[in-house]
Amino acid sequence: MNRRNFSKLLALLAISPNQGSGNISKKDKIIIIGAGIVGSSIAYHLTKMGAEVTVIERDRPAAHASGRNFGWLHASYPTKPQSFHHLLRRSLLAYKKLETEIGIDIHWGGSFEWHASKENQKILTQEIEVQQGYGVPIHMISGGQAHELEPNVKFDKEANMAFSESDGAVDSIEVVNKFLRKTINLGGQVLYPVTYKNVKVKDRKIVAVRTSIGEIEADRVVFACGVDTDELLKVDVLKTSEPEIILRTQPMKRIIDRVVVMPSFHIHQQNDGTVIIGATNTMEGTAVGSLPGAPVSHLERLASMPESFPDVALEKQHADRILAIAQQFIPQLKTVKLEEVVIGWIPSTHNGGPVVGHLKNIPGAYLATTNSGVTLAPIIGQLVAMELLDGIETNLLADFRPDRFV
Ligand SMILES: Cc1cc2nc3c(=O)[nH]c(=O)nc-3n(C[C@H](O)[C@H](O)[C@H](O)COP(=O)(O)OP(=O)(O)OC[C@H]3O[C@@H](n4cnc5c(N)ncnc54)[C@H](O)[C@@H]3O)c2cc1C
Repeated sequence: MNRRNFSKLLALLAISPNQGSGNISKKDKIIIIGAGIVGSSIAYHLTKMGAEVTVIERDRPAAHASGRNFGWLHASYPTKPQSFHHLLRRSLLAYKKLETEIGIDIHWGGSFEWHASKENQKILTQEIEVQQGYGVPIHMISGGQAHELEPNVKFDKEANMAFSESDGAVDSIEVVNKFLRKTINLGGQVLYPVTYKNVKVKDRKIVAVRTSIGEIEADRVVFACGVDTDELLKVDVLKTSEPEIILRTQPMKRIIDRVVVMPSFHIHQQNDGTVIIGATNTMEGTAVGSLPGAPVSHLERLASMPESFPDVALEKQHADRILAIAQQFIPQLKTVKLEEVVIGWIPSTHNGGPVVGHLKNIPGAYLATTNSGVTLAPIIGQLVAMELLDGIETNLLADFRPDRFV
């Protein structure tokens, strides 16, 4: 789905701010701050279990990381602790359920990961052995074998690369859209643009949230606000965010069937033919955008985490460079027509995994933020809904509680 269609669809979701105070109900009123993929998954799973939910979003749904990412559903990194890896794998299973439950379009087929240097290939081989110990369907194959599976990609035939069979890819904007539509169908509300300011607490209990459209009654608040988490809650759960450039092409004839992670870019093709290419650092050893001769103000600009380029020429320069690299490996990319070039800022937590659970310093408040959030959103949504509505604490999240940082 391109951004134009997305805007059209989401326009249907926009609700007049005047309706923002919500309905009175016997049930707890749960407010979710943030309509990224994490907040919208939580909203869907809560409303599905019968909760009264209002999502408030400062900009528009999927405006930030959840609409500017690579969309790889992965359980192919040897993430530690093992419980993190376990969550990723459970989330892939949760996606399989969502495929039929709410019609999410997933391109399954697996992923290849290829590192250029022999040294890194050796490390990758060792990492794959760790994952095989976890029971993951992943193994090393040669570049020659990979070429048989992806004949349009010029792999180094002698290279050793990882093939993870269970990975897939989604258009995360479409996923957010599906979660929110279902939330609304089930009686929830999605309000935007509405900015959360703070909570109103009485007798150590949340009674409302204060927002840009006034107070909204609340019994519990779930913070799913991505890279804004630390600033909003005055906590320290996030590392400095890193940028990545994402190119989306117009739909084209199928050229590739799996997620392919190459030495300097990564690529997959959606079911509708759109090719997605991501690149973290296209100039050796320099941060994204730091072209030779860039003015000092450049770093200041990066510090404000821009999501677009300062001008069309620079955007084209970056896109052309990424495409030129990718075309060396996949010549068919010479005919692509670009639909969009965006910059995404990855929310990364200090523990490298999710941070999910009750915030002990604000009774009734709950935090859910994570990197790999496209992969993890379904399982996080399920588990958070269960914890909030059933009043239990699942062991699956025991290693990821906020009180280790807050
Ligand atoms: C370039 C890039 C590539 C990535 N690739 C992958 C990948 O291949 N696979 C994968 O699994 N993950 C990937 N990720 C990570 C994934 O995109 C994120 O982990 C995920 O999108 C985080 O979702 P979120 O809902 O927590 O945050 P967000 O999408 O950032 O949503 C948070 C929302 O909160 C809103 N908000 C903030 N403050 C307020 C406020 N005061 N009031 C109201 N609303 C507020 C924001 O406007 C925002 O919309 C990638 C990320 C990036 C940037």
